[in-house]
Amino acid sequence: MQVLIADDDAVSRRMLARTLESWHYEVISACDGNEAWRLLQRDDAPQLAILDWMMPGMTGPAVCGALRRRQRDVYTYVLLLTARTEKQALIEGMESGADDYITKPFDAQELKVRLRAGLRILELQAQLVAAREALREQATRDPLTCLWNRYSILDILNREVNRANRDGTGLGVIMADLDHFKRVNDTYGHLAGDAVLRETARRMQAAVRSYDAVGRYGGEEFLIVLPGSGDSSAMQLAERLRETICAEPISIPEGSLRTTMSLGVTAWQRGVYPTPEMLLRAADMGLYRAKKHGRNQVEWVSLQRAGRTMHAR
Ligand code: GH3
Ligand code: MG
Ligand code: MG
Repeated sequence: MQVLIADDDAVSRRMLARTLESWHYEVISACDGNEAWRLLQRDDAPQLAILDWMMPGMTGPAVCGALRRRQRDVYTYVLLLTARTEKQALIEGMESGADDYITKPFDAQELKVRLRAGLRILELQAQLVAAREALREQATRDPLTCLWNRYSILDILNREVNRANRDGTGLGVIMADLDHFKRVNDTYGHLAGDAVLRETARRMQAAVRSYDAVGRYGGEEFLIVLPGSGDSSAMQLAERLRETICAEPISIPEGSLRTTMSLGVTAWQRGVYPTPEMLLRAADMGLYRAKKHGRNQVEWVSLQRAGRTMHAR
């Protein structure tokens, strides 16, 4: 475990370092508050800090206050080291956000147990962050396919439409749906259907670029958001997705089966300032046409065309 110590007095700094090293801490030393603050801002900064109160430049409480003002996931446990024992001064120090204090000259056993309390806090904090990450994962991912869930992919679409309308950087949208998927369930059972969905998701995820987003929009229907894509690259990607699904049979518990996918494609256009719903409608219309024309194909529908069809209804 790394620990940062900051003390402008070289003798007490060295003594503290030696004590900590004898307890197998890895010590990083700073000779004043400014250096301590610089070291604590690094990505790989120690999470445990022992700061002297009075130092040239930033004082211990000032470093602590600066630490607490920035919002970060990793917590830094701060122990103030002080020669001051008046109650009011100690209260001020703790109000800067310090976790604990110890008075100089320090008692080694006392320091040891206080550091141990600090380590326990850090451990608990790491567990909290991990639990929150797991919850976030659960809330945003589809559990079967690990793709973005419907809520998240629509959120991504919203964000990307706003960006495209603002920056004019382009945006492709694909709506994809497995063909005759009900037959897979009816013939081989629901578990086989699930295996097909998982493998379909895996192949699509492998075929897109790292900044594209693939989401499970409904049962066997997928929404793919392609930031920065124009119409021809969105069409190319849709074609690649179609091929990657039909090219190889998919393994299921009973053996393997072949399946195909139909896709509707549209793209953002300059001067239209589309809403997410307009893009969804156009991609969905493309999907509908692909199904009607015999499935296992890609159909393009422009925003204008989708708009016209809407008004004609
Ligand atoms: P089309 O080519 O017109 O799309 O026909 P389809 O059979 O694929 O479409 P339909 O909408 O009639 O059927 C979709 C089926 O997908 C029905 C539903 O039971 C199944 N399904 C939806 N979600 C899941 C799932 O999570 N697992 C499994 N195994 N099946 C699912
Ligand atoms: Mg289907
Ligand atoms: Mg469907």
